[in-house]
Amino acid sequence: MKKIVMKFGGTSVGTGENIRRVADVVSQYAKDECKVAVVVSALAGVTNSLFEIACKAKKSEKHIETFTNELRQKHAEAISTAISSKQIQEEVSQITEENIAELEKVLTGICYVGELTPKSKDYVVSFGERLSAPIVWGAIKDHEIETQWFTGKDAGIVTDSNFGDADPLMNFTTHLIRERVAPLLEKGVVPVVTGFIAANQDGVVTTVGRGGSDYTATILGVALHVDEVWIWTDVDGIMTTDPKLVADARMLPQLSYQEAAEMAIFGAKAMHPRALGPVIKEEIPVRIRNVFNPTNEGTLITKESKAGTFEVVKAVAMIKDVAMLNVNGAGMVGAPGSYAKVFDVLGKNKINVMMISTAVSEANISMVIKRSLLGRAMSTLEIALLERGGIVSEVTAEDDVAVVAVMGANMKGTLGIASKIFAVVANAGINIRMIAQGSSELNISFVVKEKDGAAVVEAVHKEFNLDKI
Ligand code: ASP
Ligand code: MG
Repeated sequence: MKKIVMKFGGTSVGTGENIRRVADVVSQYAKDECKVAVVVSALAGVTNSLFEIACKAKKSEKHIETFTNELRQKHAEAISTAISSKQIQEEVSQITEENIAELEKVLTGICYVGELTPKSKDYVVSFGERLSAPIVWGAIKDHEIETQWFTGKDAGIVTDSNFGDADPLMNFTTHLIRERVAPLLEKGVVPVVTGFIAANQDGVVTTVGRGGSDYTATILGVALHVDEVWIWTDVDGIMTTDPKLVADARMLPQLSYQEAAEMAIFGAKAMHPRALGPVIKEEIPVRIRNVFNPTNEGTLITKESKAGTFEVVKAVAMIKDVAMLNVNGAGMVGAPGSYAKVFDVLGKNKINVMMISTAVSEANISMVIKRSLLGRAMSTLEIALLERGGIVSEVTAEDDVAVVAVMGANMKGTLGIASKIFAVVANAGINIRMIAQGSSELNISFVVKEKDGAAVVEAVHKEFNLDKI
């Protein structure tokens, strides 16, 4: 019998009605076809609201009660719609009440101390999944299926102490999950595990980064050695581009890990960027599927691109809200370590660089960063590097730009892709401001004015016949 980890995202469990649908899907598979372990996100919007209330609580007690009342009501509604048995409803309501009472204490504590550390923030936001998982558990139990729920911590997911963006200690985690969760799965019990949250070696709650339930699912998949990990979401699969930009966007039936990771990074909204890490080594396939359209097979992600998927270019994405930063200086030419100085300043100020391009003349580095970080990036570079006789003579920026990324594993070694892309852009009368292609050749990224981005994406999508996939 096949073993599968199924992860359900925030919209899939957004309302009681949707949770019912999730339980239907799980029970359908668990009743005859396979052994299922479930990972759940918080109800849609709840994680964001927990981040907000944590910040507010640091300043005043004022909003705490209204917040927890709204939270209580939202979950109570979900419980009454998702679960029909009165007894199970009561059981879940009690867990919910205990959790909310604890959250209230935590928030009040933050208010008294007037301090919000990454550690306490993780503790607060962990309540989203701690509230959703019992409801999903109750809804599955309602189908007369044996099931048990766990927090990520109780399931045995152990991470480093990088609060807010922790990574699993895989050996230790595998050992604990095999001890605590695997025996249930083998017996046909459905384990329901909170996504996103885990604990460090001291048992302190950590989270694995925004959108982290995907990561929990693949960690669990590897530890339980399952046949496939299914990411149930609200779209059919990974698309050739954003359907809001191009109406002819198509679902991609199959991708390699490398391609999917590339797309995750470029915001195709497919997955947590590090989620594929654990499954790649074990070669466990991942499938993206739509809970609202369960007859669709979705996008299958495996080691190799399947033979027969001949498309060279598979997807094109636009990344908005970015800015281009240019650092110029004749002093950088032929001076070992000069680039290191520039990146050191940015790194120390927690400014992530998304894309880099330099010419062999060495007198200029262009970078793409998040637009919201532009002010900080410019001022720190100016303070650190613009002193007289320094290596840098000028720092300039453009904040009305977007990155267009063209992706596909078979681009590697195929001649003429770049010329085709740039010809399309030129024919549309659009100027390219910066270009980067890593030697992996999986991806060509370039910068255009933001106002031209949508037109470029549409033109490239058409040129490579992505509407015919
Ligand atoms: N609830 C978490 C978030 O919103 C994790 C997830 O949804 O995957 O980031
Ligand atoms: Mg999410």
